[in-house]
Amino acid sequence: MKIRQLPDILANKIAAGEVVERPASVVKELLENSIDANSTSIKVELVEAGLTQIKVTDNGEGMSYEDCKRSFLRHATSKIHYDADLFHIQSLGFRGEALASIAAVSKLIIKTSVGDEAGTKLYLEAGSIIEEGKSQARQGTEITVNELFYNTPARLKYMKTIHTELSHITDLINRYALAHPHIRFEIVHNDKQIFMTPGNDNRLQVIRQIYGMQIAQSMLPIEGSSLDFDIEGFIAKPNYTRANRNFMTIIVNGRYIKNYALSHAIIRAYDTLLMINRFPIVVLSITLDPILVDVNVHPTKLEVRFSKEKELVSLIDKIIKDTLKQTNLIPNVEVKQPAPPINKLVQDTFAFTMNEQPVDQDVPPLPEDYAEQVNDPTVTQSEPDQTQSVVEQDIAIEQPPVNEPRVPPLYPIGQFRGTYILAQNELGFYMVDQHAAQERIKYEYYKVKLGQPQQDIQHLLLPLTFEFTTNEILFIEQHMDNLKEAGLFLEPFGDKTYAVRAHPSWFPHGEEEVIIRDIVEQIIQHGVIDVEKIREEVAILMSCKRSIKANHYLTEADMSRLLEDLRHTNDPFTCPHGRPVIIQWTNYDIEKLFKRIQ
Ligand code: ADP
Ligand code: MG
Repeated sequence: MKIRQLPDILANKIAAGEVVERPASVVKELLENSIDANSTSIKVELVEAGLTQIKVTDNGEGMSYEDCKRSFLRHATSKIHYDADLFHIQSLGFRGEALASIAAVSKLIIKTSVGDEAGTKLYLEAGSIIEEGKSQARQGTEITVNELFYNTPARLKYMKTIHTELSHITDLINRYALAHPHIRFEIVHNDKQIFMTPGNDNRLQVIRQIYGMQIAQSMLPIEGSSLDFDIEGFIAKPNYTRANRNFMTIIVNGRYIKNYALSHAIIRAYDTLLMINRFPIVVLSITLDPILVDVNVHPTKLEVRFSKEKELVSLIDKIIKDTLKQTNLIPNVEVKQPAPPINKLVQDTFAFTMNEQPVDQDVPPLPEDYAEQVNDPTVTQSEPDQTQSVVEQDIAIEQPPVNEPRVPPLYPIGQFRGTYILAQNELGFYMVDQHAAQERIKYEYYKVKLGQPQQDIQHLLLPLTFEFTTNEILFIEQHMDNLKEAGLFLEPFGDKTYAVRAHPSWFPHGEEEVIIRDIVEQIIQHGVIDVEKIREEVAILMSCKRSIKANHYLTEADMSRLLEDLRHTNDPFTCPHGRPVIIQWTNYDIEKLFKRIQ
């Protein structure tokens, strides 16, 4: 006989390959067990990002001696008993393989007690119980995982830097803290406390711990239900966005999940309020009958399937849209400053602020104790919209490109719906999207400006301060040298805050925060800073911010000027986001449409 059943220890080691990918996977499984045991306080202590030691202590139900021993057997679980239970999963775990898998690839100590008598202590190596003893009677469980992957060197080799591993762990705990605001979470790394939530069931306070005060203040509460789903959470106002999707947290029955359709629905609900490649900050907690969700599609249960996905997607869409709409009812005044003379404007374009501060009237009420810690935001309730013809503020292109314009002169005929310029010339008829046209013009202007070699550093009288998440801080610390090379000097400035006293002079005034955040996000995503790419993004951002919007009536002179500037750009056909600027019907096309020719 060639076929043999593998011994349990080997089978567990194989299973561990699926469930225990890195220290964060161990933390995830232990955390989920603690939550399932109804803990109200969970402490995660790490040494060297968990590679040396992970200790999770909870105050949950604990286990009896028998259960504790059994919990390390594969497919041993207290959470489901029958086939049908699989369709009504109320708990985070149910596969009964986490403890067996973790124990198979580490040296593990468990101390657990149900509280009424001395508890149990077990010491396991590679999945085998080596020693048994008694532990104190404190109700709850403490699991210490030492030397993870000591017996699977191939896996160990795949571990990234301490910072990367730690950031995976903090990210995960952040999500669970958002999912369970009634639980107090604490992370201690190398004896230093790096994260803590109060556990008082206030999700906004957890948001503040993770994302900082500014974001917490910008959050709008959301709530809504359909027959099958209840949704609650917070969404950030669209003036706070991020360059990646990691700031969206979707929770389903207390489980942090990833789901493309749902995150897409969130982004779509923000619609044009988000600029291209910007993503919102959202925490969405969904409650539903477990029968409607299949959590058993992925070994780590991060991905799930919904049976009424369409209904859920449209509910999310509606709740977010309604909330944003209500917020917009409070006038968001955008006052343009009077335009300085053109030549002055060209000289110090970057010192010119468009005064696009959001109105802070619609900040959600914060809990009382919270308000004490938060300085009152300055409320700028300005005069009603005095938007003047922004075209007057146009920045003339300093040097026309050497090449001949790619579009022959265009003569305006009129404007359609305050949005499109209609124009003609000897070749045919044109429609020009005025916003896209101006974006293109300004984009090229800023690109030239930003591309000019400038090593000089702007020193600031008053430092700018920035709040970062624990994760971001880990990367910032790791890449301090790269940041300095890019001309960015971040100094620690209290809790989760850095001060910037100097930055490269090319950062446009008023956009520093966006640029600095983009640089940090680039570091996090790619580990390097691509200054050219940042300049490109900034040019796009600036061009979009300062361009005339749709529904803005232009004089004939405005139109002629805009068309002329557009002709002189290097690429008049698309806006920096790739949308068309100009559509042409040749004389031939038109005659064909009217069937004057065949
Ligand atoms: P699962 O969570 O899928 O049931 P695990 O291997 O993670 O499987 O855990 C096995 C069992 O051990 C659980 O079903 C639970 O009964 C028990 N257990 C694990 N961790 C704890 C804990 N922190 N507190 C109480 N019981 C626990
Ligand atoms: Mg489990």
